[in-house]
Amino acid sequence: MSLELDRRISDSGTRFRIFPQPRFLQKADGSGPLFPEPEQVVIALEPAAIQPGPADDRMFVVDAIGKLPYNRFFRPPYQGAFQPPIRAGENGHFDHLDPNSREFSAATMYATVRRVLDIWEDYFGHTIQWHFESDFSRLELIPLIEWNNAQSGYGFLEFGFGRTANGTIDHTRPYCENFDVLAHELGHSIIFAEVGFPASPTDDGVDYGGMHESAGDLVAIIASLHFNSVVDLLLESTKGNLLTINGLDRVGELSDSRQIRIAFNGLRMSDVGEEPHDRSLPLTGAIFDTMVEVFQQDLVAKKLITEDLRTRSTNLPGTAHDLTQIQDEFTSAYTGNEAAFKDSLLLARDYVGRLLAVTWGKISPDFLTYHSILRTMLQADRDLTGGVNAGIIRECFAWREIAPLPTSLMMRQHTLANCGFDETEPSPVPDGAARRSGYRVPAPRPDSSAVRTAR
Ligand SMILES: [Zn+2]
Repeated sequence: MSLELDRRISDSGTRFRIFPQPRFLQKADGSGPLFPEPEQVVIALEPAAIQPGPADDRMFVVDAIGKLPYNRFFRPPYQGAFQPPIRAGENGHFDHLDPNSREFSAATMYATVRRVLDIWEDYFGHTIQWHFESDFSRLELIPLIEWNNAQSGYGFLEFGFGRTANGTIDHTRPYCENFDVLAHELGHSIIFAEVGFPASPTDDGVDYGGMHESAGDLVAIIASLHFNSVVDLLLESTKGNLLTINGLDRVGELSDSRQIRIAFNGLRMSDVGEEPHDRSLPLTGAIFDTMVEVFQQDLVAKKLITEDLRTRSTNLPGTAHDLTQIQDEFTSAYTGNEAAFKDSLLLARDYVGRLLAVTWGKISPDFLTYHSILRTMLQADRDLTGGVNAGIIRECFAWREIAPLPTSLMMRQHTLANCGFDETEPSPVPDGAARRSGYRVPAPRPDSSAVRTAR
């Protein structure tokens, strides 16, 4: 969400409190939880627009009693017994609830989903209409069922609890209080609404599946960078040295957060298979690194770091640069300029949020490839900045080995003979059929198991 909108709604919106990261994450020195207190968030609706539940015109909480998980035959709307709806305090806000109460958990689920939706509707520049709108006008949110799992489905998000070591329900870990999990699941709904899904049964959707999981994580990562406490801790522990390759050790205490582990991954296409969560990681890495590079570009423009430091911190790994030296230089650049670093990071966050929204708004779900996402992102950058960040996007995707498929028609070369201009040039294609088709078949790229095999 843009900084101006965030400032504007802080006066007019409705206050809630939520934990930016799960309460069970501990400080590295064991002295207590990493985020001991919930942080205030303001959602874009004014208090008068929120009914008990909480509920509004897009979503509502129903704290079901004795409910089994939905399945193929048991679907919304929920019609069983439920706890009384949560009401606002006297001032119309919901920031009065005791963090150890059931009411707090239910209100957190609403506030998280609503806040993430506010953030992404601002990046899209329009209302995100639910993909289930033909059946339901509002998203049903069920916060606390007796289940050691959670799920999102057609018209609902339904959450239980984490698991203990022996697989039973761990009531200390309600999923509805886990910002990353809720934001990730809402990310899937946003992709269904804005990208759609493959129409053809012959489309195996391998990259579509990877894109979906990546989008869930990016929706969550960008949204969690709206918590001051998360941004401050991230910058404080890295001193602004955010490039992710080999970077997990630099994010310190935050490295126990699933979302941070995913953002700071160093995987390329040759490291992953077709399973959607694995396959999502290089794409998420390429896009997170784009944000970091745009952040560093702004630091250079504001003379907060040198171009030389930026280049050395980028050209990793495999180069001889001294990582300790680079970190020391970031530490001295950051110290005394904390607020300026934060401003640059928030600008980069909002740029990537807009870039993703424009990209997702343009891509076709049919026969989607990561390479087509890359090309659409370059087009989105032209729309947003006139193409200023094209070089950064190309490099971040190239490092992750996101490239055209070797079998793509786009990769074929056309000689004059192929095009019918030079009858004397011998055709390079030995195969008669290929000669007739006029295409030279490109050699496979020997170094790149990166590029997935043709299927
Ligand atoms: Zn997912």
